[in-house]
Amino acid sequence: MPVDCSLQQKRSENDGGGERAAEDRAMEEGVVGEGGGWDAVIVGAGAAGLYTALCLPAEWKVLLLTKEALNLSASGWAQGGIAAAIAPGDSSMLHVADTLKAGAGLCEPQAVEFLVEHAPDCIASLVELGVAFDRIAGELAMTREAAHSRPRVLHAADRTGKAVVTTLAEQALQRPNIQVCSRAFVLRLWLEQGCCRGVGVMRGNALDWVRSPRVILAAGGGGQVFSHTTNPTLSTGDGVALAHQAGAQLRDLEFFQFHPTALMVPGAPCFLISEAVRGEGAHLVDDAGDRFTLQYHPDGELAPRDVVSRAIFQHLQKTGRDHVWLDLRPIPEAQVRYRFPNIIRVCQNGEWICFLGLFPSLRLPTTGWGEW
Ligand SMILES: Cc1cc2nc3c(=O)[nH]c(=O)nc-3n(C[C@H](O)[C@H](O)[C@H](O)COP(=O)(O)OP(=O)(O)OC[C@H]3O[C@@H](n4cnc5c(N)ncnc54)[C@H](O)[C@@H]3O)c2cc1C
Repeated sequence: MPVDCSLQQKRSENDGGGERAAEDRAMEEGVVGEGGGWDAVIVGAGAAGLYTALCLPAEWKVLLLTKEALNLSASGWAQGGIAAAIAPGDSSMLHVADTLKAGAGLCEPQAVEFLVEHAPDCIASLVELGVAFDRIAGELAMTREAAHSRPRVLHAADRTGKAVVTTLAEQALQRPNIQVCSRAFVLRLWLEQGCCRGVGVMRGNALDWVRSPRVILAAGGGGQVFSHTTNPTLSTGDGVALAHQAGAQLRDLEFFQFHPTALMVPGAPCFLISEAVRGEGAHLVDDAGDRFTLQYHPDGELAPRDVVSRAIFQHLQKTGRDHVWLDLRPIPEAQVRYRFPNIIRVCQNGEWICFLGLFPSLRLPTTGWGEW
């Protein structure tokens, strides 16, 4: 039976549900009646899927599927921020040069140029949609992160992803042409004569087929394939698997992002400690208090992530320890409180931070998608 996530139902939920959180307004129940006629189906409702839905022509009927509740995605967990060359004195050329340098010659220059050159417009569009990035004296605030020669990372405290996806989800739910179906697990691409004609979706115990001339995979990363990850449990690489199953050629699978620092609490999931913490001035130190990263790279904590991850790993092997520390004392307390309220909350829960103290970083570089 074709899935018809009724537009009518969505509108009435929106009309009557002013008090309800945006995520609750996504349709949760099963298949409704006949129908279809989707112009595009998007698999995934993180930042990529939501933003894509909002960029498609308003006259298209768009179905946005997520296997989880709408409020759950790696995007909602993103902490530090988004890079774009928009500060006075910055330029696309500098951003491209920094990115190519951090990529150690492995980046495709055209891809980097595309990303960097479109970033300012995308930020402008996020601001227009209502994303409340932090500001200083009315201007967008920017911080530094590893490998960036200029402060160019926009943020919303240390919950930038939440600010972005909450706004995008609210916008998507208001658009009459976009229907969000949560807890709809896409299991297959529907192939006919070598062309993708739609998707097979599991909702509850039923497998339904949704026909659409356009299917967009925005199913996020696959950090859960690694033994250590800071990703949510939904990050299982489904988009890659679906494409592979349909015969797509996969490439560059070795390029998974490693994030160097996460809170190490035995038995607990890894909690990512944003790179922005190092960007604001925190130091990585060993048990003896030595700022060891400078032995491995002149940029120390702000060397590219793979370099910092390897420095931590090598130092642990050298010292025979299972952790290093992130020393926040170089950052003024008020700044720490203002910039990282969520990180402080989580670390204080475990009594890992006492102003202004240290907290231990994961014994191995984390794996999976970290932050940019
Ligand atoms: C802790 C943490 C901190 C981070 N910090 C930053 C940061 O500061 N800056 C930055 O730029 N990036 C950061 N990142 C990385 C960033 O969050 C991701 O790169 C980005 O969110 C990926 O967005 P996405 O939309 O592709 O995927 P996701 O946000 O993961 O969304 C994937 C969507 O696909 C859906 N889905 C998956 N499989 C299926 C299926 N089979 N059927 C239906 N739906 C499916 C999921 O339910 C979800 O809705 C961070 C990541 C983590 C985990």
